Amino acid sequence: MRPPAPLSSAADTTRGSAVSHPRCYVELCTHLRDAATLGSVGSLLGWDQETYMPPAAAPFRAEQAAAIATLVHERQTSPRLGELIAECEADESLMAEGSETAANIREIRRDYDLATKLPGDLVAELARTGSQAQEAWKSARESNDFPAFAPWLEKMIALTRRKADCCGTPEGGERYDALLNEYEPGARAADIAEVFRPLRERLREFVRDVRENGEEPSDAPLKAKIKTGKQHKIGLAVLEAIGFDLKAGRLDVTTHPFCSGFAPGDTRLTTRYREQHFTDALYSTMHEAGHGLYEQGLPKTLPDESGVGLFGTPLAESISLGIHESQSRMWENFVGRSKSFWKWALPRIAEHTDALADCKAKDMFRAVNRVEPSLIRVEADEGTYNLHVMVRFEIERALLRGDLEVKDVPGVWNEMYREDLGVDVPDDKRGCLQDVHWSFGLVGYFPTYTLGNLYAAQFWEQIVQDIPDLEAGFAEGQFKPLLDWLREKIHRHGRRYRAAELCERITGKPLSPDPLMRHLERRVRPAYGLEPVGV
Ligand code: ZN
Repeated sequence: MRPPAPLSSAADTTRGSAVSHPRCYVELCTHLRDAATLGSVGSLLGWDQETYMPPAAAPFRAEQAAAIATLVHERQTSPRLGELIAECEADESLMAEGSETAANIREIRRDYDLATKLPGDLVAELARTGSQAQEAWKSARESNDFPAFAPWLEKMIALTRRKADCCGTPEGGERYDALLNEYEPGARAADIAEVFRPLRERLREFVRDVRENGEEPSDAPLKAKIKTGKQHKIGLAVLEAIGFDLKAGRLDVTTHPFCSGFAPGDTRLTTRYREQHFTDALYSTMHEAGHGLYEQGLPKTLPDESGVGLFGTPLAESISLGIHESQSRMWENFVGRSKSFWKWALPRIAEHTDALADCKAKDMFRAVNRVEPSLIRVEADEGTYNLHVMVRFEIERALLRGDLEVKDVPGVWNEMYREDLGVDVPDDKRGCLQDVHWSFGLVGYFPTYTLGNLYAAQFWEQIVQDIPDLEAGFAEGQFKPLLDWLREKIHRHGRRYRAAELCERITGKPLSPDPLMRHLERRVRPAYGLEPVGV
């Protein structure tokens, strides 16, 4: 394979007049930027719906969401776009192997082919029903009333089935693959199941072993009471230290934390606070910040005098949700649960509260690396987290296949939690109603969380080889070497490479579950007073 041309993010397209592009490429990028600009308005409305919108605005917000989605879809599927792509593909100066323009046009073609498979009325219906179903989910979750949400879930599953059928099942694959392809291009459900099956066994065994043979860390440091206003200030201090640009972003409060990086200079994070268990908010914030740092590192350039900017094109977008999640889990877990992070963080927290005055970094390290099977995915520890994901993957795959009916979801969910995690689910609020995804029609999304953990662990082994004093630096508040590495190796490339290709380029190996198991050995066993095994 020929080595790719030197990577320059936007440089060779946007600096000065050194490079001028054919008219069709300039027009192509302009067209996509217009669509992305409209899309960013839709995302801003979505962010507002989650944060500050008054409840009575919900029905009309659904109309607004559908109106914008229709406009975006029109642009993404317009015949003119198809013509421009074909013109660019026919221009040899743009299609040189390994060039930035060729990579961009290849991905634009992929998006166009996918988008033109979806009829406009289905897109509008998905947006409208999704917006209503999300409101139904919110109130059903609050009142612990699955039957109230069930008809909406049925509608969304029916719509996602239609969507999958429009996209087309890849040869030898299943309907689920068509949905997965949107989030993790090229991945197959059967391959994922193949990786998940042994991983589930290894995780269950690992969790059982440390809990039976280790000395359980005290969770006393986690119970310190810190007022939410102070937690917010601590969160902002951490964001600043790890390099999240608050002049180009915000931190707000929602039920379900998320990150939306919808425009150049505008990346928004949300978190949620409880006075006790302050680490829930801290780790949610660090998690979303990991997504946010990736968004801020993508080359979302606006056009200069050459007429070309990358915002709106695939080179300014993330590779896949799995790679996105690798970034969030890295900052949350690999950084945030390390002993050196706590050596730095405890004195910073002491500037805001004396609630942790007697706490030592090693106590905090042990407390945040406890493994304990539990009910809520977003609050789960690293040892059990992927078991939560696998339950959802199996359930949604069965719903899509028609092997499972919506009304039976709570029963199956509860049974699987008993089996895999050994916990009894007391109510649906803490069971199958806990996640927002299905209400939006996000089916095929959950497995990317575990793929993210696997990628993060594999990248991490490379990072600590490249930067040997990395973790020692965290204790001094030096997080920049890590961010610089991620910017250089991952962020600036946008969608230039597929996830599997990026993994091979960076680590020299295909994705494997072994680095994640080694990471857990090194991290969790010492927290339980045990020697790491087999690392
Ligand atoms: Zn995430």
